[in-house]
Amino acid sequence: MSLALPQSLWAAMRRGIAGRCPRCGGVRLFARFLQPVARCRLCGQDWTLHAADDFPPYVSIIVTGHLMAPVLIVLGSATALSMVATMTIAVAMAVVLLLALLQPAKGAIIALQWWMGMQGFAARPGKAEAGVE
Ligand SMILES: [Zn+2]
Repeated sequence: MSLALPQSLWAAMRRGIAGRCPRCGGVRLFARFLQPVARCRLCGQDWTLHAADDFPPYVSIIVTGHLMAPVLIVLGSATALSMVATMTIAVAMAVVLLLALLQPAKGAIIALQWWMGMQGFAARPGKAEAGVE
């Protein structure tokens, strides 16, 4: 458990992807599947300030599409499966991938917004808390 501020955007996003508080990394970021906690109980960061909106689903769809493309090519060309079997496998895999990627994508987007001082987050944490402008 690290309670230190992340040293980079990528470090903050890794914490968000893992479902941890991007600021301190000490506790869970999400109270429910896609609902972040209102305030981190360790560092006190207010997470109601984020506005991830539709961006996490867009990221999930793009990643799922890129991961599913080779699977669809293999299923369509290298197997003797029927069209119904191919579509059943493909749709099931796509739904599972989308659901699996949604929370990590939202955690990463919240971390990105926090680090960049976007939406309700006042300023980049390293600058604001170090007193550097
Ligand atoms: Zn925290």
